[in-house]
Amino acid sequence: MGADNRYMAPGFGWMPKNGHLRDPPAKHRQVQDRQRGTGGFRGTVRGMKTREAGKSQPGQRPQHRSFEDLSDDFPVIFFDAYGVLVEAASMMTPVPELLDRLRAAGKDIYVVTNDASRPPEAIARRYRDGEGRQLFGPERIISSGAIATEILAEEIGAKKVGFLGPPASAEMMVQAGMEALPVSEWSADTEFDALALLDDEGFEWREAINRVANLLREHPIPTVVANGDLAYPVGGGGIAAAIGTVANALEGILDTRFIRCAKPDAAMFSRAFLRAERDHRGLQPGDVLMVGDTLQTDIQGGRDFGLKTALVCSGHTQSERVEPLMEALGIYPDFLCDSVFT
Ligand SMILES: [Mg+2]
Repeated sequence: MGADNRYMAPGFGWMPKNGHLRDPPAKHRQVQDRQRGTGGFRGTVRGMKTREAGKSQPGQRPQHRSFEDLSDDFPVIFFDAYGVLVEAASMMTPVPELLDRLRAAGKDIYVVTNDASRPPEAIARRYRDGEGRQLFGPERIISSGAIATEILAEEIGAKKVGFLGPPASAEMMVQAGMEALPVSEWSADTEFDALALLDDEGFEWREAINRVANLLREHPIPTVVANGDLAYPVGGGGIAAAIGTVANALEGILDTRFIRCAKPDAAMFSRAFLRAERDHRGLQPGDVLMVGDTLQTDIQGGRDFGLKTALVCSGHTQSERVEPLMEALGIYPDFLCDSVFT
């Protein structure tokens, strides 16, 4: 896809032009063009560097810092949720105290999460302290589910969307006026404008993979992946496979590329940055610290966008695996912290 076939969409970075998606032959051609080999919506947005530029040069070792000390240097902090603030669907116990300290110091805090299992309002309701106090307003939560919904509604113009995920994950699509059908309700002749891979729960994997593979083989409609994570921590040092694993399997089977709108892709960071910039005139990407527990999503995506990055060893990436993983992936954060609580 050439540069002249794209336009700058606020909050999304470079987007392919569409408008032919309702015409079946053109739709299929265009969808294949969009999904295959173009890297989805990955592209250039203000402050964003290229993917290669995001990789560190050999010798650029991260600085080991305490988060308490490091957070002093940044007016705006983006937190990943799982493995940083959240473990096994609950806020880690010291989080309320941490947030009180950061807010008292005037820090602007956002959660930038690949959680597409429910709308930002519902995510915010789950983030509470021991006394039931809600810790974030929904406007502070940048979720891949919300961005996926906007892409489906505004860019693809989808009216009827098939989805993988629990019922709550489709709420946003319904609120946006789309008809959303879970995989279990599809029949052989169901027609969709688009598919959305939202969350790993709410469906039987084997059946779903086979249904989606056969559907897309016959009708290559736009398919949006709202969470590219391969796994997430479930507590006690364990992990569970995430919807990105399903997406990768399907892309492999079909030899295609879906539209990705979760970290490490630019849409998340662009949206969060634009929101933070409203309260900080002249904010530069380097003024923002992205804190995450996963090199391939939080750190790679943050670096690509030009943010400063801190990897915490409290979740997906355990401290004994940090060195070999950084070497193997060629992804180095600016800073290493044991957790956000030290
Ligand atoms: Mg995480």
